[in-house]
Amino acid sequence: MRMSQLFAPTLREVPAEAETISHQYLLRAGMIRKIAAGIYIYLPLAQRVLQKIERIVREEMDKQGGQELLLPALHPADLWLESGRWDVYGKELFRLKDRHERDYCLGPTHEEVITDLVRREVSSYRQLPLLLYQIQTKFRDEIRPRFGLIRGREFTMKDLYSFDKDEEGLEVSYRKMYHAYSEVFRRCALEFRVVEADSGAIGGSASHEFVVIAETGESEIAYCDNCAYAANVERAEAARDVTESAEPRRELELVSTPGVTTIAEVADFLAVDPKQMIKTLIYLAIDKEEYYPVVVLLRGDREVNEVKLQNHLGCLHLALADADTVREITGAPVGFAGPVGLKDVRLIADVEVPSIVNGVCGANRADYHWVNVNPGRDFVVTEVADIHKVVAGDKCKVCGHALKTTRGIEVGHIFKLGTKYSEAMGATFLDEKGNKKPFVMGCYGIGIPRTMAAAIEQNHDDKGIIWPMPIAPYQVVVVPVNSRVEEQMKVAERLYRDMLEAGIEVVLDDRDERAGVKFNDADLIGFPLRVTIGSRSLQEGKVEIKKRRTGETMPVDIEEAVATLQELIRAEMTKGVSL
Ligand code: ATP
Ligand code: MG
Repeated sequence: MRMSQLFAPTLREVPAEAETISHQYLLRAGMIRKIAAGIYIYLPLAQRVLQKIERIVREEMDKQGGQELLLPALHPADLWLESGRWDVYGKELFRLKDRHERDYCLGPTHEEVITDLVRREVSSYRQLPLLLYQIQTKFRDEIRPRFGLIRGREFTMKDLYSFDKDEEGLEVSYRKMYHAYSEVFRRCALEFRVVEADSGAIGGSASHEFVVIAETGESEIAYCDNCAYAANVERAEAARDVTESAEPRRELELVSTPGVTTIAEVADFLAVDPKQMIKTLIYLAIDKEEYYPVVVLLRGDREVNEVKLQNHLGCLHLALADADTVREITGAPVGFAGPVGLKDVRLIADVEVPSIVNGVCGANRADYHWVNVNPGRDFVVTEVADIHKVVAGDKCKVCGHALKTTRGIEVGHIFKLGTKYSEAMGATFLDEKGNKKPFVMGCYGIGIPRTMAAAIEQNHDDKGIIWPMPIAPYQVVVVPVNSRVEEQMKVAERLYRDMLEAGIEVVLDDRDERAGVKFNDADLIGFPLRVTIGSRSLQEGKVEIKKRRTGETMPVDIEEAVATLQELIRAEMTKGVSL
């Protein structure tokens, strides 16, 4: 490809709308354009990257026995009514009517359609297992489409669905996908972690997320350097710090704490460690038509993990109670709540609370706190649950080492569905004994454009993108320093032709532009390798190869340039990074 012809309208200015690095560079490098919130055009450079990622994905799915098909994007409402999701999916579902006023939706995911297909076409255990996948456009009316391609409203996803005859079969399919996903991101040369994810009401280790490590990511993960443990902070658990001190239990005492309400203020005022304090929060658990208050106790230095709390309660939503509700339940203004003497309300203590000795808590009375509070003696603890947020430094529950935390972008998600959809939709087969059984299912998704954006979030500098070789739109850019110098253009054209013949993906910057402009564009677009052709090195029969990532330059003989490039490309293609 010649740069003079490449349709990549680069921008010098940082577009005001771009919130993240990947969004900014995708726009600036002339790779995407927005037509409405969360809806993008992919220009040729982006399309090349997406196709490379898709190719890797297809190869890994096929290796595990996956078969590609293509399901429609337009779904009749009937199927969604059958699964029950027409009502619960909410506003994220794009709904529409046809000319006969019949309801349809644009598929945000395809469990309903694939389950319908399989229930009609598969009737015997002999036809199982079945791994079916597609790479197709999904539509989700996200509340907040943002970060460019990371949270769009129309995006391509690879989604695979597994159908097995029993749980053991599902386990095998799940492991295959776990392996395939690890291979996909390794082959894209992305640094990633596989983390246990929150799978809502289903629980267990039925779900893993594949997270590309990047400071700018929306997901926070806790991981152990010493063993393989890694989990989304939403569900991460640490070894429980429940060693009880042998300190004698002192007598409960009411102390005046005028105007002192926050944990930090109380700790300071009474000169106690926040770990000694019993943080008391009032939440409202909200279900379809009812809501009820719950009092939550935590060690003073802890934060509530609302996902864990919500899972424990099994409610639809959760909200901190307003000041009036707090007063109704505790009889005191916000800042003085405590468990001592509280009645007729559900009380949940975090796992670390029962071992607090001579603690401090609010006295349910304005301007007073209790000191020397001992759980079990001064208030009854009946419901204990792990509801605190894990932080760096907590001990790994597997090996005891200090956990670390980092941020990342979820690019893939694998999920054991079990019989949720097959039962709801009556999708059954006949087992060995002739009994009717529901299919045991799994679903597995990779966001293709999100993976491209995550690659940029992880691989860039202040000049632009640094593409990992396996997914770079082009591997090499050839830059004659001055296109008007005939000798330079002659060598450039010759190398360009030789590279094409050798199968190298190359762009020749043949534009009549200043060298600075060409170098800036090369850095912005992020070609992994640049070949610079300047008059001085030509005198010695050499050109210069520069690695985008390290900035390392090396002079090479013109005759050896193609072979050297091939070698550099080969080395980068197979490197692959994983943690
Ligand atoms: P999130 O928690 O980020 O909303 P999700 O749990 O809704 O993700 P899944 O339904 O598991 O995502 O989708 C599988 C994959 O599709 C995700 O891992 C991600 O790569 C991609 N994906 C999901 N939503 C979007 C979106 N709005 N824009 C781009 N990619 C997306
Ligand atoms: Mg989502």
